[in-house]
Amino acid sequence: MNSSDPPLTLHAALFRIAEETATAKDLTSFYAAMHSIVAQLMFAANFYIALFEPHTNIITFPYYVDEHDLPPPPRPRGRGLTEYVLRTGQAHLITADDFRALRTQGEVDLMQTLAVDWLGVPLKAGDVTLGVLAVQSYSEAVRFNQQDKELLTFVSYHIATALSRKRSQEALRASEEKYRHLFEQAPIGIYRTTPDGRILDANPALVEMLGFESLAQLTERNLQTSGFEDPGERARFAALVLRNGELRDHQTTWLRRNGSSLHVREHARAIYGPNGELRYFEGTVEDVSERRKAQESLRIFQRAIEQSPVTIMLADTAGNIEYVNPKFTQVTGYAPEEVVGHNPRLLKSGETSPHEYARLWQQISTGGEWRGEFHNRRKDGTLFWEAAFISAVTDATGKVTHYLAIKEDITVRKAVESVMRQQHEFVEVLREVVTAINSTLDLNEVLDRILSNISRVVPHDAGRIMLIENGYARVARTFGASQHLFNLETHWSPMPVSVTRNLRTVFETGRPLIIADIAAYPGWIERNVLTDMRANLTAPIRSRRGIIGFLGLDSVQPGFFDETHADRLLALADQIAIAIDNAQLYERVRAHAADLEARVAERTAELQAANVKLQELDHLKSKFVANVSHELRTPLANVKLYLELLETGHADKQSHYLATLHREASLLQRLIEELLDLSRLELGSRPLAAVPLDINLLIQRLLTDRRALIAHRGLHLQTNLTPDLPTLLADQTMIAQVLTNLLTNAVNYTPKGGIITVNTAIRTALEQDWLTFSVADTGPGIPVKDQAHIFDRFYRGESSRNGAVPGTGLGLAICQEILRRHQGHITLDTESGRGSTFTAWLPMGKPRHDQETSAGQTNDVPLAVESLRL
Ligand code: ADP
Repeated sequence: MNSSDPPLTLHAALFRIAEETATAKDLTSFYAAMHSIVAQLMFAANFYIALFEPHTNIITFPYYVDEHDLPPPPRPRGRGLTEYVLRTGQAHLITADDFRALRTQGEVDLMQTLAVDWLGVPLKAGDVTLGVLAVQSYSEAVRFNQQDKELLTFVSYHIATALSRKRSQEALRASEEKYRHLFEQAPIGIYRTTPDGRILDANPALVEMLGFESLAQLTERNLQTSGFEDPGERARFAALVLRNGELRDHQTTWLRRNGSSLHVREHARAIYGPNGELRYFEGTVEDVSERRKAQESLRIFQRAIEQSPVTIMLADTAGNIEYVNPKFTQVTGYAPEEVVGHNPRLLKSGETSPHEYARLWQQISTGGEWRGEFHNRRKDGTLFWEAAFISAVTDATGKVTHYLAIKEDITVRKAVESVMRQQHEFVEVLREVVTAINSTLDLNEVLDRILSNISRVVPHDAGRIMLIENGYARVARTFGASQHLFNLETHWSPMPVSVTRNLRTVFETGRPLIIADIAAYPGWIERNVLTDMRANLTAPIRSRRGIIGFLGLDSVQPGFFDETHADRLLALADQIAIAIDNAQLYERVRAHAADLEARVAERTAELQAANVKLQELDHLKSKFVANVSHELRTPLANVKLYLELLETGHADKQSHYLATLHREASLLQRLIEELLDLSRLELGSRPLAAVPLDINLLIQRLLTDRRALIAHRGLHLQTNLTPDLPTLLADQTMIAQVLTNLLTNAVNYTPKGGIITVNTAIRTALEQDWLTFSVADTGPGIPVKDQAHIFDRFYRGESSRNGAVPGTGLGLAICQEILRRHQGHITLDTESGRGSTFTAWLPMGKPRHDQETSAGQTNDVPLAVESLRL
């Protein structure tokens, strides 16, 4: 304070207060000016202004000049002298003694250095006490009096008023400055225009936004005529603002200085004058180009999500659903409002393990991802499959804010996969089954293998394989439940295919037949057996030869079989057909081979037998040759001997020699003749001169010739000829020879007094009629040991040796050969000591042609013939 200034008159002080109030550039200057004014009125070396803020109850000391004390800091209202003035609302002049008295009364506390005199007045503007103005003296030399108090009280009133105004001014200025700053710095454009569109003011943001270099440049623009993309926009804008007084969130497109578009959002209002006249439009302009782009992107995203073919679900960190797209509703049947706020577990079917859910949450709650499949339940209870991708959505700081699930309905894919897998498995099973079935060619084994594998192809409770034989379906195998019933195969009489409705249908269509319930199928004929069976599936077994049988399956469950079963059974049946075909073919080949083998064995046996016979014949031939040479040598030796005796022997014995020579020559002759006979017979070189022959007549003629000889031998002859025998085609000479040979033997081997009986007859044997003639004697008979050999060539029996009967051993052999050529034979009936009966059998049919007979015989005994030629 300048103490050299002249003391002011009160009037001048009041003038200065008004002047300083107007000119002081801020409050601090204003306080200083007030101090200098008071200092010109009284002692004011110690001067302060305290202000009280009733809202906060705080006292501040914005101006404080003191010889002892520093300006005190702001403080809550306490018990200082300042507060005392405030409390009482009165001006107080307080001496040190007054202070002590007041302190004793508890009115005040000492806050600062104790003054000699303290003079304080309230700063009252109207009813409001703004604070306290105080001066104090620390010197006994300077004292304040009542006049000072009144003067200060008077001045303080004006100061308070000025202060009040100054503070208002200051606040207004600060406020204006603040708003100007906001206006200048705002990132959005702010303008004021005249009602006719002239721009009065605009902030830098708008200037820049519209591409102008300065406000001055911009104010040349009139929005009525330019500035909007749509020239009608300004009129529309004005109308809207005027209608409501203001306009909010108005989207429009301005033009930049360079003519490009600027998408903005505007708020505007109309400003009216005191008489209600329209004065301005004011508004803010926000560049929403970016936001519009972002919104557009967002809209596209939203559309994409809403039209997405996959389910999109957003859940909060607690796992509760916040958003689902329309696909979700389409897939699950739940509307968004039914699921928002709920946990997605409402879709759970219970098939995913708790462990898997735990793993899922562990993974995504730590910011990871989870991929997997759910088998979930729709609102209607049906199940569906989803492939899910779940991940956490994080904010800029990495904190998880949401969980995002993207899910695809893979029910169809799963189903297709399942069908394909089943198909693949079926093909695999079919391949195995077919391999098993085809690994044998035995039909029974094929059928057994079909049985043991069929359930792998089509599930069933029972079934059977039927094979068609002569139009009848015969059950070849039964299997499955009710086996005990089925096994009574006798129960299953073959069913005629043409009248068994189900079999006939399958046979005619060549397709499997599904019967959902045999109880409702009128053509079912085995109803009584299959009491517990309801559904039936029958497939044809189709081979190259046509349908050869049926494969039938039964189930206790009505409607059990479906088209897939039918297709599978048919596929199996086709394979079975091939296996059965192969087995049957093999069976035939095997039978044929067995037949061939048997025939080969038979032929081999025949050849072996022929071989044995040939060996025997060979042996016979050797024996025959030996016999012939021996038989011929004996008489020849005798002839030679007796010829020598004729020359050298006794003359008186010559007649004996000659007789012997004669006998031996006769024997030789007979031997050679008989050999020739036999040879001719066997060679067939003596043809069979078959003529109708009356056998009785032939016998009678021969006996006539022999009767004398027989009687001469002391034997009796009897005949027992069956009369009226039919004639027979035969070689008379040969038959006569047979009779001659037999008669000769009977005469030769029967002792004197014996009886020879010749008889003829017709007999039946071997289903044929025979004409027989026999020669019976009462001679010694033929011993058993000879019986087998007497028809052999050169074989001579016991009787011939005992009785020294001359002979060749060829007679019976010739008989046998002659009869053989007549397709007849010779039999012997004899008993030792009681005679023998030889019977010749001639067939009563036409004898075979001689050529054929001889050719056949030539083949049969070629070696014998050879031997006879020797
Ligand atoms: P052979 O009479 O020339 O010896 P056969 O072939 O006619 O030759 O007879 C063979 C053998 O059969 C005779 O040697 C004889 O032992 C026996 N035999 C034939 N006929 C009679 C018969 N009627 N009674 C007894 N033995 C006979």
